[in-house]
Amino acid sequence: MPIYEYECDSCLNHFELQQSMKDEPLQTCPNCGAKVRRIFGLNSVIFKGTGFYCTDTKTKTEPSCPNKESCSACNP
Ligand SMILES: [Zn+2]
Repeated sequence: MPIYEYECDSCLNHFELQQSMKDEPLQTCPNCGAKVRRIFGLNSVIFKGTGFYCTDTKTKTEPSCPNKESCSACNP
């Protein structure tokens, strides 16, 4: 579940809230009841479980032998 970051303009309460994406965004500060705003920062929404996939699929390939049929190394 993503974690959303909120900040209250009234009491400057800064907090994070884990909620579902289909949940309504929080409207009021749990500290003072004033209106809060959701912050979209670089780390404000953290998706757990999706993430980073390694794209490095490079595999070590041997150069193909030009004389594979008669090569003594290829046909020991
Ligand atoms: Zn507040």
